[in-house]
Amino acid sequence: MKNYHYPRYTFVFVLLLLLLWSCSLILDTLRTGGEKELPTAVQIASQPGPRVIIFALDGTAPDELMRLIRSGEAPNLAALLGKDRGSGLFEHGYAPRAWSILPSSTIAAWAATFTGVPPGQNGIMGDEWFVRETETFHAPVPVSAQDTLDVTKVVEDDLIGQLLSAPTLYELTKRKSYVSMLSIHRGATLYTTVAPSSFTNFLTFLIKGTLKGIDPEKSFSAALDDSAVQKLIEAIDTRGLPDLQVVYLPGIDIFTHVSENRLAGQARYLRYVTDKRIGDVLDVYRKRGALDGTYVIIISDHSQIPTLNDAQHRLGTDDEESPFGLLAKSGFRVRKALLSLGNLDRDYQAVLAYQGFMAYVYLADRSTCLEEHKACEWKKPPRFQEDVMPIVKAFYEANRTGDRIPQLKGTIDLIFSRQPVAGTQNAKPFQIFDGHQLVPIGAYLKQHPRPDLIDLERRMQWLGAGPLGNRAGHIVLLARACTNIPVENRYYFAGITHYTWHGSACEQDSRIPFILAQAGGSGSAMRNLMRKVGGDSPSQMAMTPLVREIFK
Ligand SMILES: [Zn+2]
Repeated sequence: MKNYHYPRYTFVFVLLLLLLWSCSLILDTLRTGGEKELPTAVQIASQPGPRVIIFALDGTAPDELMRLIRSGEAPNLAALLGKDRGSGLFEHGYAPRAWSILPSSTIAAWAATFTGVPPGQNGIMGDEWFVRETETFHAPVPVSAQDTLDVTKVVEDDLIGQLLSAPTLYELTKRKSYVSMLSIHRGATLYTTVAPSSFTNFLTFLIKGTLKGIDPEKSFSAALDDSAVQKLIEAIDTRGLPDLQVVYLPGIDIFTHVSENRLAGQARYLRYVTDKRIGDVLDVYRKRGALDGTYVIIISDHSQIPTLNDAQHRLGTDDEESPFGLLAKSGFRVRKALLSLGNLDRDYQAVLAYQGFMAYVYLADRSTCLEEHKACEWKKPPRFQEDVMPIVKAFYEANRTGDRIPQLKGTIDLIFSRQPVAGTQNAKPFQIFDGHQLVPIGAYLKQHPRPDLIDLERRMQWLGAGPLGNRAGHIVLLARACTNIPVENRYYFAGITHYTWHGSACEQDSRIPFILAQAGGSGSAMRNLMRKVGGDSPSQMAMTPLVREIFK
């Protein structure tokens, strides 16, 4: 919703220069980087028993992946799984219908996957969130904020480990564990990564919109995945095999966001890059005679929904027609979309954190900071009638009639809110605003069935309830996103535009691949194991108990 006024040719020229410059810079920095023995490592020696490899494929659509496996276009995965027996069962593996938590966003989803507990309990709420008690805005993946300082901290200072309030899989299993690239690595024995700056550079180019989807094999994303896998293989060469190896491949997600061909582009990437890198890792085990009997998990954090890559479909940050603008027009001083603020900007009364198809709104008790330049007492919860409900109603009316901001008309699917409580208390569950009042989610869905929003009540409970559920804000906005509406009618909360987004409760971006295989093992044994920890249709949180069960 922002107009660019650059002369077209200058813009294209600058873009080309940036691309050329970024090309050489990224390829340079990718070659450096390295490995880090983690100070919290509890167990270095390998233990007898099976080994586990987790391929964490960021942003992978399950249907695309399974089609490639079944058609033989992903030969390494196909060979691992063996013959297709139908209904998700393979000769050596099992692939049930599986789901992400909410929001279906990278950092929160991986945190839930690698702790086995949801955001309301582990404290990692999304790609961005605000902590009232410390007045800190976190953006480990910048969506509204265009500042990559937290990305660097994720790689260099284990930012997520510092913020995570639940034990990680590595801490729970106490095994020799190597983690390649993944943001959740606290408690692992070894963390391998490309140079922190190169990952940050990638995201900088991504958020500035200067990365474009081209040939998968020649893309920056592939260079990142290739270097990461090379590093982890070098680590295995010098240190031997771990009991648990986590292989995070971020390139798929980055490539898909910027690929004009959207999910077709992703399928090409999975075929020409991802499956080959998976094959490289499996080969390392095979050459050491260690592949047979090894358990392999293939899992994603979320999938993707095609969107229009233009400013009309982006609910942005810095323009008057954005949700920021609506809060300002409703009489709130809004926090700028930056990680750190100057002194004069600290008197904000409202904060927005973006997750793609979802946005969190945090409000202050405005009676503590009526005058300009007076900072609010964020430790105090906002007043329900005076601070929260006016904004709930402002979004409802803007969405219904275009009141105050015509561009917001028809952009929002659902508005959630709840009675605020002090940050130290357990949060109340989110309810849905029906135009008159807040209604419990279950009761609302009985009146207005929404089969397109998967397991909405339980997943919103995971997000908002529990000791840290307050961190999801006072209002949650869900944009219109599902694939049962035309792409022209889908909207996303973000600083920049993309060809795909995620973060919603829709089936398309919430359903994930979650495959359990054992090299040379029995598919029905894998199905039994998976069902034991996750039932017929597990969430990604079943992965932590699954690995614990394997190591038991
Ligand atoms: Zn992701």
